[in-house]
Amino acid sequence: MSATTQTAPADVVVVGGGVAGLSAALSAAERGPDGARVVLLEKADESQAGGNTAWTDAYFRLADVYEPADGFVDDMIAFSQGKTEKAYVETLVDQLPHAMEWVQGHGVRFQRRATYFVTASKPRMMPVGGGEALVRSLTQACRERGVDIRYSAPAVGLERTDDGFLVTTGGPQPDRISSRACIVASGGFEGDRDRLAQHMGEHARAMKPIAPGGQFNTGDVIDLVVGLGGATSGEWSNFHGEPVDSRSTQAEASVMVFPYGILVNNRGERFADEGIGTVDETYEDIARAILDQPDVAAYLVSDATFDTVPGIERGLLTDRKPVRADSIAELASELGLDPDALASTVDAFNAAVRDDHDFDPKAPDGRATEGLEPAKSNWAVRIDTPPFVGIPLTTDIVFTYGGLATDERGQVVDDQGAVLPGLYAAGECTGVYYHKYPGATSVLRGLVFGRIAGASAAAEVLQQA
Ligand SMILES: Cc1cc2nc3c(=O)[nH]c(=O)nc-3n(C[C@H](O)[C@H](O)[C@H](O)COP(=O)(O)OP(=O)(O)OC[C@H]3O[C@@H](n4cnc5c(N)ncnc54)[C@H](O)[C@@H]3O)c2cc1C
Repeated sequence: MSATTQTAPADVVVVGGGVAGLSAALSAAERGPDGARVVLLEKADESQAGGNTAWTDAYFRLADVYEPADGFVDDMIAFSQGKTEKAYVETLVDQLPHAMEWVQGHGVRFQRRATYFVTASKPRMMPVGGGEALVRSLTQACRERGVDIRYSAPAVGLERTDDGFLVTTGGPQPDRISSRACIVASGGFEGDRDRLAQHMGEHARAMKPIAPGGQFNTGDVIDLVVGLGGATSGEWSNFHGEPVDSRSTQAEASVMVFPYGILVNNRGERFADEGIGTVDETYEDIARAILDQPDVAAYLVSDATFDTVPGIERGLLTDRKPVRADSIAELASELGLDPDALASTVDAFNAAVRDDHDFDPKAPDGRATEGLEPAKSNWAVRIDTPPFVGIPLTTDIVFTYGGLATDERGQVVDDQGAVLPGLYAAGECTGVYYHKYPGATSVLRGLVFGRIAGASAAAEVLQQA
């Protein structure tokens, strides 16, 4: 076992090297004439660093580079059923043009690119090169600013001292670092199945992180901050997930084409309205509904219509081809389903399809079922023409909703709303989401509030100097 060392004190220690942590470290290091002395601790080794951020395409809920999508504030609050703090969302919108300008100044470029949603209600922008490019550019800028980035250095202890904090790291070179301020940006707890089960019920244990970056986000640093008096926020029993191809082992093998067929569980029964709205606004509900099915298993079942949908390949992120068969019985046996059960479900669905609207794969078309439970509200087309198509599905977790409570400066607050001096948090480890995730806001908020937390922490410690 290596001996614990104690390195020179820092002004700011940042825990976590995704978009939130890198933005925080960089903005702290840029503050004032000389910048703050910043140490960034990253649990993963350098080849695996970057957290969830490194694995995402990183869609931003923006109409243009500096312009939030229509209804941004209202949607974020409405999706949370009024629970997300308005002040937080307003700060996000107010600060996003500055953060976008800042990150472009560090070499990140943005583009408008077609999303993987064949139907979408909101526009999206993304960094060229996705989250990986964001991590690369911010890491390089941190290095140029003298941030001391330490990989394979998980924070395992956080204590308050007379003049700040003592952060203990584990890993191959354990260390104790004293710092005036600490910014926690260590992601959610999607990488810890025990914690998922504790907060969401035993069935949540079945979910794996949708990409390798999520495995490091285990929630232990959130607990350390709670131990120092930090309050929690966000819906701890909820998560953001995606329906994925259960045969695939690749990251984000998502299947975003469920409106063009029916979904059945492993008893061959339907369990959700597959056409309740545009895919971007409904895929999370579908992922949750799949989590509630036996063995967290579902099957998309369609027919020749599937191949007529323009752009269908965009919604199939999986590397595996759909199963194709000449009959429903054959499809059932290929998928491991009971042929009679599947045939009876398909027959009941076909009988309920109304023909009073034309099928329009690009927008909610009002082509619904009648008298069927659960209904299909749009894109209801009979499944009767070979080749029949099937894709086995499960639910992967993207991130958790529960986290730390912070104010608009990124400062951690206690149960009474009073700030904990010197202690900041940003990104997934802060809890703002409830009920339904307003898509394409997580990287954006990590960037905006990481930058805010870094500047606020540096201002606090440099003022005291
Ligand atoms: C496949 C995929 C697609 C996604 N698509 C989108 C999208 O299009 N738009 C969008 O907005 N969001 C998307 N997301 C979500 C988004 O990527 C993340 O929520 C966001 O990047 C989180 O940023 P973060 O900095 O808070 O956390 P992360 O990027 O996860 O970084 C947290 C870091 O903390 C480190 N860490 C954890 N514990 C410790 C510790 N004890 N000590 C030191 N370091 C620690 C981790 O190793 C990790 O590097 C997607 C996510 C995935 C995986």
